[in-house]
Amino acid sequence: MKKIFFTLLFLFTITIFSYAQKAFVNQIINSVNIDSLMLTVKQLSGDTNIILNNQIDSITSRYADSPDVKKATAFIGQKFKSFGLTPVEQSYLNYKGYSGKNIYAYQQGTDKSNNCYIICAHYDNLPLGARNYGSDDNGSGVAAVLEAARLLSKHSLPFSIYYILFDHEELGLIGSDYWAGTHLNGDTPVLGTINIDMIAYDGNNDSVANIHISNVQQLGKNISDKLIDTDSIYNIGINLKVYTDAGPLSSDHASFWQYFMPAVLFIEDDKTGDFNPKYHTVYDRINLFNTSYYHRMAKLAIGTLAGFVSDSSHVGIKDISTQENNLVLYPNPVNNSFTIDHISGKKVLVKLISTNGEIVFEKVVITENEKLMIQLPPHFPNGLYHVLLINKESVLHKSFLKE
Ligand SMILES: [Zn+2]
Repeated sequence: MKKIFFTLLFLFTITIFSYAQKAFVNQIINSVNIDSLMLTVKQLSGDTNIILNNQIDSITSRYADSPDVKKATAFIGQKFKSFGLTPVEQSYLNYKGYSGKNIYAYQQGTDKSNNCYIICAHYDNLPLGARNYGSDDNGSGVAAVLEAARLLSKHSLPFSIYYILFDHEELGLIGSDYWAGTHLNGDTPVLGTINIDMIAYDGNNDSVANIHISNVQQLGKNISDKLIDTDSIYNIGINLKVYTDAGPLSSDHASFWQYFMPAVLFIEDDKTGDFNPKYHTVYDRINLFNTSYYHRMAKLAIGTLAGFVSDSSHVGIKDISTQENNLVLYPNPVNNSFTIDHISGKKVLVKLISTNGEIVFEKVVITENEKLMIQLPPHFPNGLYHVLLINKESVLHKSFLKE
């Protein structure tokens, strides 16, 4: 009897621990404001005027390459500035035949590892023409990213955040492809990306939304799990379905997957017939919004991000499924450097991850004769590490002890 009681108490404690709401996340979710979201959507789609360079103006099209899309870029920059963030315009010139601008803001985390999370959406739209709206596709996503920035920028958080709005999504995921390619060489490892593309249409009021993860290494599963937890722990009321995609890939998350960065597409029900029937037409307007659904979708995306970036106990290594393989790593234990044999592929992204999930080293290297020699940085702390070798085909995993 005593033993049974003890077991029950233990289970109960575990349950409380895993399902407790966190005050910070709760506060952020409760601060997501539908009026703020709707105003931004109206401003982006020209339903409401904006002030740009001290003049009344209006965004009448966000078709990539249209003159007005530049107003949208400037308007988004202005929003970031109003939150105290520094907008960065990332221009690409004749990249895969396109020239355009991503716009983003980076919020530095307090954790020195520089691990980051991304919340992103594309801001260009369809159809081609001098007057279009793109209210759901993807005014709804852009407004959610800006709402995340408005709320989270007020806080000092362990993890860094990129708030990114991509250009040229509709013409082939161009902006995100460029961003992901340039980021690969950066020093801020991406632990998760929430790509938001169309979150305001729910014609049959069933509150269904979809999460798309990758069939390769289940990239994005860590984010998918967190979205599901956040929905249930904070009673947001979205009915989530998870799809594992092999392709074709319809939004910017695919640009992250190609470099094995974990990402999901978070979207209204694009699978079972309750998808915005007017998307990519001039009738994609706010009259089709289900505002209660939109509000809850934004709460869920932003609340999930808030959970990730405020939780330094989060274990990164769990995010990446790894496979056993015939890699040989020597010497082990490691002193200052080590060699790995039997690597396929010439260009490999090497990540060293500590046992508590912190990415402590990241570098793109060119291999020679299927061999790779890694010199550890000076004063590299002793301990057990995981080394991940990431290329276009696979993620390979090996552990070593640094002594
Ligand atoms: Zn879209």
